[in-house]
Amino acid sequence: MNQAWKNIRHDFPILGQQVNGKPLVYLDNAATSQKPQCVIDSLSHFYQRDNANVHRGIHALSMRSTFAYENARERSAKFLNAAEPGEIVFTAGTTDSINLVANSWGDQNLKRDDIILLTEMEHHSNLVPWQLLARRTGAKLRFLPVVAGDTGLLDLAQLGKLLTTEVKIFAFTHVSNTLGVINPAAELCAKARAVGAISVVDAAQSAGHLPLDVRAMGCDFLALSGHKMCGPTGVGILYGRKTLLDAMPPYRGGGSMISNVEYFESKWAPAPQKFEAGTPNIADVIGLARAMDYLDDLGREAIAEHDEKLAVLAYGRLATGIPGIRLLGPAHHRSGVISFDLPGVHAHDVVTMADQEGIALRGGHHCNQPLMRKLGLTSTSRASFYLYNTEEEIDRLAATLKKIQGFFVG
Ligand code: PMP
Repeated sequence: MNQAWKNIRHDFPILGQQVNGKPLVYLDNAATSQKPQCVIDSLSHFYQRDNANVHRGIHALSMRSTFAYENARERSAKFLNAAEPGEIVFTAGTTDSINLVANSWGDQNLKRDDIILLTEMEHHSNLVPWQLLARRTGAKLRFLPVVAGDTGLLDLAQLGKLLTTEVKIFAFTHVSNTLGVINPAAELCAKARAVGAISVVDAAQSAGHLPLDVRAMGCDFLALSGHKMCGPTGVGILYGRKTLLDAMPPYRGGGSMISNVEYFESKWAPAPQKFEAGTPNIADVIGLARAMDYLDDLGREAIAEHDEKLAVLAYGRLATGIPGIRLLGPAHHRSGVISFDLPGVHAHDVVTMADQEGIALRGGHHCNQPLMRKLGLTSTSRASFYLYNTEEEIDRLAATLKKIQGFFVG
């Protein structure tokens, strides 16, 4: 690990506080990550010095904000190793990005009885937009199963049978927000391509956690959210292969996405502008690019190692230290998301009592209701780690869960 890791917690001013009289242990990173001071500074710097609308103005401030906004597109293309900045569409986040693909590419290309292949572990954001598309077009949904048991691995043996030439879209999550499992994205994209389907990767839980290279992965589309990778809320990216973006119709109409407008019809600007109608989220796009710099200074390989080390440690500590605990996801080779069920204690009670100890967890169905039902659960508690979490925080988590179990179960 390089110098940038030294004093990393000091980069995040929010972490220095006490909650309920105890030092904050923030383990809700799968919901949203905290922001380093440099990202916070980039937002206030923009509003203090450069704020103006992009693309339309030719005064100094507008040129500065346009420059910073388009620089952020270049930065994002580099971050993902896209072939060019034109493959980066700024959106409001993963949900928005997936809806864009479903509405634009989906409506243009799907017909009755075509198949949309998903997996059983998808977040509602990578499920409901496809349900809506299926309803509009008469296409059918199919699901690649998760193997029986709690490892959370996809049943890849079923893929050959499910991935037929009727499949037009294969959309799957790179990392599960409930199971912590890391799916073999490159292999899944290659298999989709082999039958002529497009691949859509939900990278909400992997961007900023694992190195991402869209060309090595071979995906057609990839969606991410800035707020889960040290960036601001309300901003995200849709990466799309340029030839696909070029051929797609706009998803929303308005200013900035046109080349010419008449009373009865209009012509669109080229991609990616045709997908960015209206005033974009300028400051947050710039903040997101700053977050990418921050993450790359630390090194994304090193971040992935750190996440996995903590997750494996926590998994082992909870498995041995908390009798009867049911842990979801694999014990090794996993992301920093750990979901668990403490028999006899409702997840909301776990989270409420942990909060009394200053520990931020999440309890519920994690926008994974069908997966929960398949696992025979209605909810789990979830601890999710990121680059600023420490082994001492795992000790506090384990001790607190022991205390909670003692209180409720005796
Ligand atoms: N997919 C996954 C796997 C997620 O974890 C999330 C956020 N919990 C989303 C999609 C949706 O992200 P957002 O709410 O930022 O659009």
